[in-house]
Parts: sequence; structure tokens; C-alpha cells
Amino acid sequence: MMNLQTKLPKVGTTIFSVMSQLAAEHGAINLGQGFPDFEGPQALKDALTRAMNAGCNQYAPAPGIPQLREQIALKTERLYGCSVNPDTEVTVTAGATEALFAAIAATVRPGDEVIVFDPSYDSYEPAIDLQGGRAVHLALVAPNFGLPFAELEAAINDRTRMIIINSPQNPTGGALLREDLDMLAALIGERDIYVLSDEVYEHIIFDGLEHATVLSHPQLAPRSFAISSFGKTYHITGWKVGYCIAPAALTAEFRKVHQYLTFCCFHPAQVALAEFMASDQQHYLDLPAFYQAKRDLFANALQGSRFKIMPVRGSYFQVVDYSAISDQDDMSFCRWLTTEHQIAAIPLSPFCETPPAGRYARLCFAKQDETLLEAAGRLCRV
Ligand code: PMP
Ligand code: GLN
Repeated sequence: MMNLQTKLPKVGTTIFSVMSQLAAEHGAINLGQGFPDFEGPQALKDALTRAMNAGCNQYAPAPGIPQLREQIALKTERLYGCSVNPDTEVTVTAGATEALFAAIAATVRPGDEVIVFDPSYDSYEPAIDLQGGRAVHLALVAPNFGLPFAELEAAINDRTRMIIINSPQNPTGGALLREDLDMLAALIGERDIYVLSDEVYEHIIFDGLEHATVLSHPQLAPRSFAISSFGKTYHITGWKVGYCIAPAALTAEFRKVHQYLTFCCFHPAQVALAEFMASDQQHYLDLPAFYQAKRDLFANALQGSRFKIMPVRGSYFQVVDYSAISDQDDMSFCRWLTTEHQIAAIPLSPFCETPPAGRYARLCFAKQDETLLEAAGRLCRV
């Protein structure tokens, strides 16, 4: 018999798969796993079909096709006023998930510490563990889920190799401000610490707030990997296309991992995205209003419920406090909500080293208005 010793003892099936499966079994409205129940732009889908019929069906260049990297660079310049070199600083990846993994694999060595802020996205820690690194968990501060700067200052030491930030934040709906990045930069100082900035919800930010990107931050940009995902921006989570922007020296290391992880990603999707982005610079500018309307519709419809609505600055997630309804832990509560009330939600504890203080569940509002109203009606009866 093989003596199988798992390299990931803490990992089971992700909470997203578990809750989607439970939702399907119980005919629940799935506000759990984060994905839209509506379609992306028709012109983008048409461009994908055209790309396949035009024969773009063999390997793409490993860093991504030049036209798409060019469009990413143009968008970054237009939106954030910073110039990135598409040849040496932009890499197209198989979703943000691959980019996060490749950035961690390229930089974290055995014994290194990586600071993550809980609740933190579930793919960070397994990637750190596989490199022999250690995730150091610091809790975000409710109700706005801001960075805990005093704890961060105390946690940084000679073993700290990377700090992972995520703004707008999944699952809390928090968002960092420019002054948060200034504080982060001041705490890092001149140390050899990379910043991995998960910016997949960069275009989903509300109430007139501007997305604070590391790309335009003079102290952070030279040490940062900025990650984004077309899945969020164009409502195409199943296409799994994302990208990483990092200075040339970091990108060179990133690409060493990327070329053996996937080599390249789905060629027709890259052609379609490049074509669409060249012809449409409006879609992502409309996203804040589009999703803010959904956030507000859903929150208003929940006013008559016993859930307490937490503030949402960005992302497409609404955290609710269910302490007026139940004493159950969040895993049990979300299962119960799915099986008894046919609404699937995501507990926050799988995103945390120590369970969060408070009774919270995450609801995804990237849904058609009718879905949100039907779901809110059910939640008001809980
Ligand atoms: N980071 C965060 C914060 C996410 O929410 C997600 C997906 N929901 C990802 C990364 C992964 O993105 P992708 O689907 O493009 O791999
Ligand atoms: N990122 C999505 C979420 O937070 C899920 C992605 C996945 O299922 N891996 O819900």
C-alpha cells in the first residue's frame, strides 16, 4: 500500500462547491457561490464564435496574445493613469486563480511568512502551504472590514515575504482607500516584501469611491503583483481568463511558473476579449451603477427581515448578520437556510483561521432583479 501523506491536510472540497451542490439538491436559489445568473455581452460571445471559426484554435503565445496584453495596458493607462509595458509586464492567465498561485509559487520559499487578512479568499493559503510557506492570519476590523494596522506592524518581521490584499474584498464587501495603501507602504518601508493585490472586483465599487490600485501607488507598484479577472468584469466566470500586471523583473519570475502551470490559456477567448475591449470602453465604466442598483434593490427588499445588513463598498457580496435569528454557527446556519428556506449562502468561517466574532453569512447579489426579489421575499420569512 502507498503511504499517502497529503500535502494539504486542512483542505477539503471548497465551500463554494459544497453550497452549490446543496442548493441544487434542495432547489434553492443559489446566492452562495459568486457568479451572475445573467449573460455577458452578446458582442463578446459573437467574437468568441468568430475567433473559433477563424481558426484561433491552437496554442496561444504563453504570456497571452499581444492584442489582449495591449488592450489590458491601454485600459490600465486610461483608468489609473499608469503606463505598463504589455510585452514585459502583463501576463494573461487561466483566471485570477492561476495568477494568484503563480505569483505565490514564484516568490514564496519554505519558511517564508505570508500575511493574509481574514476573512480571506480561500485559494491563498493552500498556494502558500504548497510552497512550504506559512500564512499569518490577521483579522479585518468590522463593520467596515478595514486593515488592522497595529497588528500588521507587529506581524511584519524578517521572515515576511509577502502581504496579500484584496480590494474590493470578497467576502466582506469592504474596499481599501488610497490612504490605506499609503499606510501599508509606510509599514513595509524598504523591506523585501512583495504585495499580492487581488483586484478582481476593481470595477465593482460603489457610492462614488475610486478603486485604490497598487498599480498607481509609487511605493507599492515596484513590489506588487496586481491580479484581475475578466470573469467578474464581463459576467463570464466560466471562461476563466484573468491577468497579472507586475514590474518586468517580477513578471519574468511569474512567467517561469505560468509556462509550466498552463503554458497558455484558451486562445479563442483571448482573441474575443481583445476585439471586444478594442471596440467597447464603456462596459466596465457602467459596472458600478449596474451593481450598485442591485446592491440597493436587495438591501431595501431585506429591510423587513430580521437580518442586519452590513455596509458594502464594493464586490457583489452582501454580508448579513443573522444574530437576531439564530445562535447556530455559520456553517450550520447556511446549511439550514439552504435546506429549510431554499436560499444558499456562504458562511465566513471557511475564510478564517479563527471563526469570526459575530454571526455572518455572505449573499451574492450578482443576480437578476427578479431573483433578488424572490430571494429577499424568502429571507424576510426566516
Ligand atoms: N479572487 C477573488 C477575491 C475572487 O472572488 C475570485 C473568484 N470569485 C478569484 C480570485 C478567482 O477568480 P477567477 O474565477 O478568475 O479564477
Ligand atoms: N470566487 C467565487 C466566490 O467567491 C467562487 C469561485 C469558486 O467557486 N472557486 O464565490
